[in-house]
Amino acid sequence: MSAAIQILSGLGGKGPAAIVVEAQGKRLLLDAGGALHPGEPITWASGLDVDAVLISHDHVDHIGGVAELPAQIPLYCTPLVAEALPPQRAWQPLPYRGRINVEGIAVTTGQAGHSLGGVWLHLDVEGGIFYSGDSCFESRLFPFDTPPPAHTALLDASYGRYDQPQAQCIHAIGKALDHPLVLPVPETGRALEMALWLAEEADQRHLPWAIDPIIRDNLAALLALPNDLRRKGLDEAIRAVLKRPNAVHPALWLISDRGDNPADWPHHRLLHTGYLTPQRRQQLAAGEVLWQRWNVHLRASHLVALANQLQAAQVAPLFTSLHADAEVAWRDLLGERFITQPSLNAPSATRPLSSLLLTH
Ligand SMILES: [Zn+2]
Repeated sequence: MSAAIQILSGLGGKGPAAIVVEAQGKRLLLDAGGALHPGEPITWASGLDVDAVLISHDHVDHIGGVAELPAQIPLYCTPLVAEALPPQRAWQPLPYRGRINVEGIAVTTGQAGHSLGGVWLHLDVEGGIFYSGDSCFESRLFPFDTPPPAHTALLDASYGRYDQPQAQCIHAIGKALDHPLVLPVPETGRALEMALWLAEEADQRHLPWAIDPIIRDNLAALLALPNDLRRKGLDEAIRAVLKRPNAVHPALWLISDRGDNPADWPHHRLLHTGYLTPQRRQQLAAGEVLWQRWNVHLRASHLVALANQLQAAQVAPLFTSLHADAEVAWRDLLGERFITQPSLNAPSATRPLSSLLLTH
């Protein structure tokens, strides 16, 4: 008896997440991703037959396809993530950190370090199947919980082989702050930690500052959670940001990303810090916008560290290109654990000796 895993979407490139795990006679869908680019169709959902769906977090490429699923399929997510579901969609709570039984399968959740209310998922079948959702070790605000061991690891490799430490990213963004800037960010993700950082920077530089009201609301929601769901020592800083009024004419403006274009902001430059759509890539190439990453996904060495920690015998890097040169590099990083096929089994057999020897 083994578990079958089918990566319907998310393998071979940045794209919607949708993975089916079939075990103990049940089929669970992990994430129901929507298109990253407006207007792109969702293809993974057609004719899909699953017993339940579990959602890791509320970003569109993980939750945006829920509307494509029949409404009667039981859906599990954390209460904060449920706020992003289509209106009236029924749901059942996943713990922010804990264990739950879904259709007879024991599921462990933990903090993924990536977004408000976001979790990773660990299924206690066939030596363990771990799905990171989007995960990051480097958040100043969101903790990353160490997961239990897993034979199979489906890991967020959105950054490919990129491996720059967050401190260097933040230093580079800091160098851009002397000009009026608008920073569009996902409102439940890096928005929250960037709000704290930008407030400190604005103070030091005596610059007027503003953040989007929805970012304030989400900071307040984070503060309302049990304090072990955020990194220690930040509550005072969060409260200070919540009390601080927005400037009338901000030089630094952190906004929820609603698809802003340079023409919308004649007195500021747009600085993007995350994934660039093809249109934004063109704008960057034309010098119309700025870009410097703020890490919110696992960088390469952290992905390998997580695979090692899980003692995984097979590892699928998700949400990243797997063209020939990338395959060579991933094989170099992961050794025989590296897998590229969309359908795989998680066997209960003893782990092969070769995987035990791969400790780099
Ligand atoms: Zn995400």
